[in-house]
Amino acid sequence: MKEPSTLIVGAGVVGVCTAYYLAKRGHRVTILESGRLEEGASKGNAGIIALGHPPLPRPGLVWKTIKWMLNRGSPLYVPPRIDFGLIAWMWNFRNACTDAHFRQCMRILAEWGWATGKCWDQIIDDEKIECEYHRTGWLDVFRTEEGMKHGRLEADLLGEHGFNVEMIGGDELRRREPAFRKEIVGAAHYTDSRFANPGKFVGQLADRVRRMGVQVHEQTKVIEFVRANGRVGGVRTSNGRRIDADTIVLAAGVWTMELAGKLGVRVPMQAGKGYHVNITAPPQCPSVACVLNETYVAVTPMAGGLRLAGTVELSGINHRLMQKRVDMLSAGARQYLEGIDQTKIINSWCGLRPCTADGLPVIGWAPRAANVFIATGHAKYGFAYGPITGQLASECILGERPSLDISAMRVDRF
Ligand SMILES: Cc1cc2nc3c(=O)[nH]c(=O)nc-3n(C[C@H](O)[C@H](O)[C@H](O)COP(=O)(O)OP(=O)(O)OC[C@H]3O[C@@H](n4cnc5c(N)ncnc54)[C@H](O)[C@@H]3O)c2cc1C
Repeated sequence: MKEPSTLIVGAGVVGVCTAYYLAKRGHRVTILESGRLEEGASKGNAGIIALGHPPLPRPGLVWKTIKWMLNRGSPLYVPPRIDFGLIAWMWNFRNACTDAHFRQCMRILAEWGWATGKCWDQIIDDEKIECEYHRTGWLDVFRTEEGMKHGRLEADLLGEHGFNVEMIGGDELRRREPAFRKEIVGAAHYTDSRFANPGKFVGQLADRVRRMGVQVHEQTKVIEFVRANGRVGGVRTSNGRRIDADTIVLAAGVWTMELAGKLGVRVPMQAGKGYHVNITAPPQCPSVACVLNETYVAVTPMAGGLRLAGTVELSGINHRLMQKRVDMLSAGARQYLEGIDQTKIINSWCGLRPCTADGLPVIGWAPRAANVFIATGHAKYGFAYGPITGQLASECILGERPSLDISAMRVDRF
């Protein structure tokens, strides 16, 4: 008798981590990826593994969001257009900005945060992955007293869930990280978190899973499902192949929405487009990943230089690069760091975060397609939460009870 097999659609961090945990247990796995391994949100993100951090929807955000929405120069930009999917998503997002929902998300994300931290350490140590992995935490850096005041509240919130946060003043920050300008008032150091080079992590983990027997097919887009008796027997690909499997995992990021739709399954998401620029190292480089609080720019030491990343643009599923938003990254960094003007831009990039309106991922079996498992919707935390998602997905696929409660992530909540 043939062993059961799983076909994973999407070689982002979620797909590759799911393949890893399945292959470790001796399961037969194939991954299909429409693009190339070195492309995609999982490889171009800021690489911050922020454990237990708050979800996108939060109390008080509605008015701020409305104010930002139409301004191309704000951290969140929504080009005006008639898009019923977007209108419904915004309505649901608004409904999720309640205190009760926020607290529920925080409980879940904190529990998942501790668990994903362990997964990260295990994968890095067991697989000897060299991806500039640092267990030194990250810094939330404040330019204003007002920002620092909010930062303290956020630090207290994470403290309630057992995370260690050290508040440091501007002078102490500059003693540790001389790259910061003299007007910076302080930082919160989230010491339990980590950061890494996402391209290296996903690329090397994909190499490891190949060696474990997983077949990884790049430039192979899934275009159709082959259905029989309420199950999905396999898929058809853009290069004319049919590939059968016992279980199908949709880990295709924001594109999961369209794929699931072909099976009559609703996974409403918006593409939260974000940008990065990789720049050469300034004369003084921060040694720890940071988020520049007031400008929402993430700064990560990577590959000998810096990656500046951030901004959210809800402009649909496309990779159109808006130069004004790319420029916001360097402008945002310049306000905090010395020497940005002496750096050179190596490349600019944009990628799509798969964002649900309620701020929680979608993890579970699909209704109406018994053997299809969906794992997506991690918005701005997909890199951090990829490993725990892979572990939980593998447990479900192997018929075990998942080691964490995933009921809040179920697919039929929409
Ligand atoms: C600028 C930016 C900064 C970010 N910073 C961070 C951060 O610091 N920390 C963090 O935790 N997260 C961060 N994120 C979010 C994180 O990158 C995403 O949440 C994560 O990459 C989602 O992973 P995924 O595997 O679900 O999807 P993706 O990475 O989008 O992967 C899905 C893959 O599926 C493939 N695919 C799609 N359709 C098909 C098909 N039909 N057939 C075959 N393959 C298909 C796609 O080509 C893609 O490679 C950031 C995102 C951006 C854009």
